[in-house]
Amino acid sequence: MSKTLPTRPLRPATLLVRGGTNRSNHDETSEALFLTSGFVYDSAEQAEATFAGTQQHYQYSRFGNPTVAMLEARLAALEGAEACRATATGMAAVHAALLSHLKTGDRVVSSRALFGSCHWIVSTLLPRYGIIGEFVDGADLAQWEKALSTPAALVLLETPSNPMLELVDLPAVAALAHKAGAIVVVDNVFATPLLQKPLQLGADVVVYSCTKHMDGQGRVLGGAVLGSKKWVEEVLQPFTRNTGPALSPFNAWVVLKGLETLQLRVNAMCRSAAAIADFLSERVEVARALYPFSVSHPQHALAKKLMTGGGTVVTFNLAGSPEAAKAAAFRFCNALQLIDVSNNLGDSKSMVTHPATTTHMRIGAEERARLGITDGTIRLSVGLEDVADLIDDLAEALDAAGSPAARAAE
Ligand SMILES: *Cc1c(COP(=O)(O)O)cnc(C)c1O
Repeated sequence: MSKTLPTRPLRPATLLVRGGTNRSNHDETSEALFLTSGFVYDSAEQAEATFAGTQQHYQYSRFGNPTVAMLEARLAALEGAEACRATATGMAAVHAALLSHLKTGDRVVSSRALFGSCHWIVSTLLPRYGIIGEFVDGADLAQWEKALSTPAALVLLETPSNPMLELVDLPAVAALAHKAGAIVVVDNVFATPLLQKPLQLGADVVVYSCTKHMDGQGRVLGGAVLGSKKWVEEVLQPFTRNTGPALSPFNAWVVLKGLETLQLRVNAMCRSAAAIADFLSERVEVARALYPFSVSHPQHALAKKLMTGGGTVVTFNLAGSPEAAKAAAFRFCNALQLIDVSNNLGDSKSMVTHPATTTHMRIGAEERARLGITDGTIRLSVGLEDVADLIDDLAEALDAAGSPAARAAE
């Protein structure tokens, strides 16, 4: 028989390795992969009791699966949440959290700086069902105050945001949201469960893309929704069971194994990201480098209040007029020899993206300008390579991009 975990509180690194592990009767060391869609019953009576809910037994992997359940238990323990449901992707998690809670006539207030597909759900999908989506500038508390002076059903926000690493004063916004009658859903992908605890800061529901740091090795897609037992069982679960955004047991198993090294990876990536932010801020080609734990970040004090680390992403703007900045950004990306041009993040491999022409192309120039995304903006997801090699690669690519003075002479 496998041991149960001690009842004393365990620290994150321990929970990441041990949390949720539920050994089968074979007493395997590593979490077992139950690659099965269905389950069999001893008898018709047991099937009846399972469907009636009087006996605990797996029924079907759209409802639950032992490998997926281990991931859910591990994530809940890490987050300090009562319950978790894993989903096929991060977007399935956001979609399920919103659509399970909302109905026609409801009002959603959201920060403008959202992951592209989250922005599409609030601006385009929800209105089709008669749900009003309203955006505010997440860093401006006065706008939240105004928007939440009338009743709302749900607040959705991302902090730090993608790609400009803007922060939302979560405790203040949560207080306003609750007064307006809204639940607060936080997309905590950029902070990871290790660097920020939204539930302790006033949020009701936390969503993740497990595709990012949790797998962290570019292999599988996954997502998770965490909240109170009551909300998860009564609001979220009927929606997920019947609409079917279930996570594959194989992907759950990959994410479980990824979690075992999450703290080691995130800590190393944060250290490198901080060093790279310092390096970039010294370069003449860089007009502005943003990193939440750099003193030059406009919300540095808030970042220190909400987070225990600055995260694994650094965003910077190359200087120049729009055309010059875009050309410089492309020269920079194309000159990188080590760092990949790719739109994922939180991966062990460092990667850059040019948001204006990729992830944030569809939102249009006006909305990009409002978010501070210029044609010279580069988002760098810092990986696990030696930081000195990364800085060498960045230095050479910045040389290729050219200084503002050299470009002005072009
Ligand atoms: C990647 C990401 C998502 C979506 O996750 P998928 O697993 O790609 O569906 C949502 N929010 C943020 C902040 C992300 O970075």
